[in-house]
Amino acid sequence: MKKQFVVIGLGRFGSSICKELFKLGHDVMAIDSSPERVDAIRNFASHAAVANATDEMSLRELGVRNFEHAVVAIGDNLQTSVLCTLMLKEIGIPIVWVKAKDLQHQMILEKVGADRVIQPEREMGIRIAHHMDSEKVIDYIDLSEDYSIIELVASKKLHGQTLLELDIRAKYKCTVLAIKRGETVNVAPMPEDGIELKDILVVMGHRNDLKRFEEKGI
Ligand code: ATP
Repeated sequence: MKKQFVVIGLGRFGSSICKELFKLGHDVMAIDSSPERVDAIRNFASHAAVANATDEMSLRELGVRNFEHAVVAIGDNLQTSVLCTLMLKEIGIPIVWVKAKDLQHQMILEKVGADRVIQPEREMGIRIAHHMDSEKVIDYIDLSEDYSIIELVASKKLHGQTLLELDIRAKYKCTVLAIKRGETVNVAPMPEDGIELKDILVVMGHRNDLKRFEEKGI
C-alpha cells in the first residue's frame, strides 16, 4: 500500500531512507536546509524542498501535516532534531522516527514524543557483532532486552528433517517463525515441513535459548 513519508535531513542516513522508500513506491517528501542536498535527491523523491527543520511555518506551508510518517535525520545537531521532533508531533504527525547520536540524545527525543529513536551506528554495530560472533547468524532483531528474532542458516545437521522431528520448541524453547528458501518464504511453517541445507530459519526466543540453539541445534 502506498504511504506518505517525509524525510527531514538528507545526510547519508536520511537520503538512503528517502531513496529506498521512493524505490518501494511510496510518496516521499525530502526536506533539507542545504540546496545542494535537496538538488541531489530530486530524482529520488516525489517532492524535494529547501526548508529549515525548525521553522514551523515553512513546514506547515509544505503540507507536512498531511504526512502520516516522518523521519528526522539530523543526528549531529541535538537542538535542531529535538525542536523539529517536538514541532512535528505538535503539528499532528502520527508517527515520528528520529535519528539520535547517543543515549542522552535518545532520552531527550523520547521525552519530547519521538515514536522511535534510532542510533544507526550503534544498532548496526550490534548486528555486525552478531554476524561476526557466528557465521550462521544472518540477521538479528531485538524485541526486548531478553528476547530477539534471528535468522540462521540451516547446516547439514538439519537437512531432511521436519520441524516435528527437530522439536526445536521443546528442546530449545525457540519458535521457528518462518523458513526462507531462495525467493520463497514459508511464513506459517507446519510441523511436517522439512528443512533443507542452506534454508534460512527465522527464529524467536530468549537470547540465551537462541544462543544454545545456534551453537548446538543448527
Ligand atoms: P549522516 O551522513 O551519518 O546521516 P550527516 O553528518 O550527514 O550524517 P547531519 O550533519 O546530522 O548528518 O545532518 C544531516 C542533514 O541535515 C544535512 O544534510 C544538513 O544539511 C541537514 N540539516 C541540518 N540542520 C538542518 C536544519 N535546521 N533544517 C534542515 N536540514 C538541516
